[in-house]
Amino acid sequence: MVNLEGKVALVTGSTSGIGLGIARKLAAQGASVMLNGFGDAEGPLALVREACTRPSQKVLHHGADMGKAAEIEAMMRFTVDALGPVDVLVNNAGIQHVAPVEEFSPEKWDQILAINLSSTFHTTRLALPSMRARNWGRIVNVASVHGLVASAQKAAYVAAKHGVIGFTKVTALETARTGVTCNAICPGWVLTPLVQKQVEARAAAQQTTLDDARLGLLSEKQPSAEFVTPEELADLVLFLCSDAGRQIRGAAWNMDGGWTAQCSLRSPAAARLRSSVVGCSPYFEYGCAPLPSPEAFARRAAPLLYGARWPRGW
Ligand code: NAD
Repeated sequence: MVNLEGKVALVTGSTSGIGLGIARKLAAQGASVMLNGFGDAEGPLALVREACTRPSQKVLHHGADMGKAAEIEAMMRFTVDALGPVDVLVNNAGIQHVAPVEEFSPEKWDQILAINLSSTFHTTRLALPSMRARNWGRIVNVASVHGLVASAQKAAYVAAKHGVIGFTKVTALETARTGVTCNAICPGWVLTPLVQKQVEARAAAQQTTLDDARLGLLSEKQPSAEFVTPEELADLVLFLCSDAGRQIRGAAWNMDGGWTAQCSLRSPAAARLRSSVVGCSPYFEYGCAPLPSPEAFARRAAPLLYGARWPRGW
């Protein structure tokens, strides 16, 4: 798909999930790869080395904490010394924490902002000078559908991912007359350890099986009712790295099984409520009919959709 022979790729948060999938595909196209992330590094190193196609390729790991600027600086120096200047930068490291705003711990807020957003600024500011000097580079920021729309209980994550998309646009504008591009990709649900934790929490809260919890999670938000895979996202990254991606700049490209194509009132939950909403035609489900009056919505549908948390009034 794209020849990355002789190129150097750095993928943050690549000891697991989406990052590992992206690192493997970059290696399969000929890039030397710097992995980053916590936990066992030997397994991921072996998997990415296995994907390499040329003897000259190198695959290494640096365990920098992406929440700490000094460690990110050390990782960037280590990468240049060991592999050469970074050509492909994939900002992927991310964590999640779920709680209502008033119960959200300030420490978790700071941590999520640092890892999910500020790390992207630090790696980019450090990689850009050499990309500009060689007039070629690809920066791909793994945002989320939560960079485009919100979900309750994910204040820090949603704020950080919206920030990533804003930062992506600024970087794309500042590099618009160069061979460096910067884009964000916005996955919907991908069944990685990050989401598995949410599946398990849901199964426990609802006293249901893991299969039912997975299906419940999907059917609430993702119309395809299928998870996006790391491999599919990695192919999107390869496309953005290709010559065909040269004029894609500042995009927030969703791969979300239709999640962001729908308005929230067309979600399956809203569809189930259709019959209980005063004044709604069958077309309500498809967003073709006028919405019910605010009074009708607040009286009948909103408490069912949002429970006791529904704020009275609009
Ligand atoms: P994951 O938990 O499988 O992997 C996260 C990776 O980040 C791991 O390698 C982990 O070690 C690393 N990491 C975590 N904290 C770190 C830190 N402080 N410093 C360095 N590395 C750290 O998660 P994933 O689902 O593969 O998520 C990857 C990215 O994709 C995240 O940015 C996430 O927000 C985004 N995303 C995931 C989904 C999904 O459904 N899984 C959807 C949209 C966006």
